Amino acid sequence: MHVASYDYLIVGAGLFGAVFAHEMKARGKRCLVLERRAAIGGNVRTEERDGIQIHCYGAHIFHTNDRHVWAYVHRFASFNQFVNSPLANFGGMLYHLPFNMNTFREMWGVRTPDEARERIMAQRAEVKGKPRNLEEQAISLVGRDIYEKLIKGYTEKQWGRPCSELPAFIIRRLPVRYTYDNNYFNARYQGIPIGGYTRLVARLLEGIEVRTGVDYNMARAQYEGRFGHLVYAGALDAYFGYRFGALAYRGLRFETERLEMENYQGVAVMNYTEADIPYTRVIEHKHFEFGKQPVTWVTHEYPAEWKRGDEAYYPINDAGNQALYQKYAALAAKEENLILGGRLARYRYCDMDQVVASALAAANEQKKVD
Ligand code: UDP
Repeated sequence: MHVASYDYLIVGAGLFGAVFAHEMKARGKRCLVLERRAAIGGNVRTEERDGIQIHCYGAHIFHTNDRHVWAYVHRFASFNQFVNSPLANFGGMLYHLPFNMNTFREMWGVRTPDEARERIMAQRAEVKGKPRNLEEQAISLVGRDIYEKLIKGYTEKQWGRPCSELPAFIIRRLPVRYTYDNNYFNARYQGIPIGGYTRLVARLLEGIEVRTGVDYNMARAQYEGRFGHLVYAGALDAYFGYRFGALAYRGLRFETERLEMENYQGVAVMNYTEADIPYTRVIEHKHFEFGKQPVTWVTHEYPAEWKRGDEAYYPINDAGNQALYQKYAALAAKEENLILGGRLARYRYCDMDQVVASALAAANEQKKVD
């Protein structure tokens, strides 16, 4: 098959690839985007059913402190006023998230910040020195009661490992507040793109050739020598044929169903924090958009062991995997004209705004090189 020449061959039609391709096309560069899956959007992909945007690969709420990123995404979509305020379900009791005065009142019946602080101070005394893992970090932030009910079961299900063996940074993603504020994020800007993320990505890719169902690592011979630069957003171990071994990921399984009722759970995200319940979250998609349809769509999110060939969701950033990643990254650094980007290629737990910012930065870097 004849393959035309391109300035940039971009592997992955997710947020990174789409932003990068858009920027380079705007600079007059010829881009070709290859996507292994049958459809564009990467893990932010949404699909419409009954007028409801389904988040195919888990809940995605755009949030950022970066006004440039916020302005940038507004060129491709309008955003609604959604604010993420999930609930945690433990033993049938509901608790507000993130950890804030509402949670403390529900847990202990306390009403003032001083009363809450006193409880947490007493419970955190068991952690001596700097927290060395997620368990110690959680107890030192919110105390043992909240750790046992709202963190331990959830985290161990999600990651398939004991909290004492997980890095502390994972739990520091969540705010802890001594105010009655249920906003899950501290970000200045937050919302969901009206019309869905797939439309946003499609707008970014407007006028750019995209081939879906093409796994670059399998079809490599066909494309070799036909492009100036390779932008790779896939898994780095796969790119190098797993020559040093496979990086570990955590998998997910989504079970999505249509329910003949208007409102199933009254909130977009309900976390199930008990160890015995096999799913971590139930997402009711219509609430991301304040939907009023007579039916609803609900997804149960199950954490899953991951093996090579499965979809990779979360990198396992423990010391062993980080060291292995660094070996691959060192190989990549030797390849001229290879640009890595996105959650998979960088082996990082990233939020969407960080991905957009890094794609813009990578595109700007190219301008300097040219
Ligand atoms: N977490 C928890 N209980 C919850 C929600 C989150 O213990 O109800 C912990 C858990 O360790 C998780 C981390 O906080 O991995 C980060 O949660 P976040 O919601 O940011 O995860 P994501 O949405 O990225 O999967």
